[in-house]
Amino acid sequence: MNEHEFICQLCEGKQFHDPAKGHVPPGWAMKKINGEVILLCDVHANPCHWFGGPSPAIKELYKKKFGKEITYH
Ligand SMILES: [Zn+2]
Repeated sequence: MNEHEFICQLCEGKQFHDPAKGHVPPGWAMKKINGEVILLCDVHANPCHWFGGPSPAIKELYKKKFGKEITYH
């Protein structure tokens, strides 16, 4: 077992995952927001949140967490 703890940078959801089985847990993704790459869990990386741009839920979480709007992604 070589599991690492991955933490969603929007909701702080956590998951243990072995990086040998993929660089992020299944369904998780790295997204570039405002020029910075952040790690998102399977819920927040789901394409339904990103269809045509970040969803209102994503924008709200981002603002709460980082104190700024998503201006580009
Ligand atoms: Zn999340």
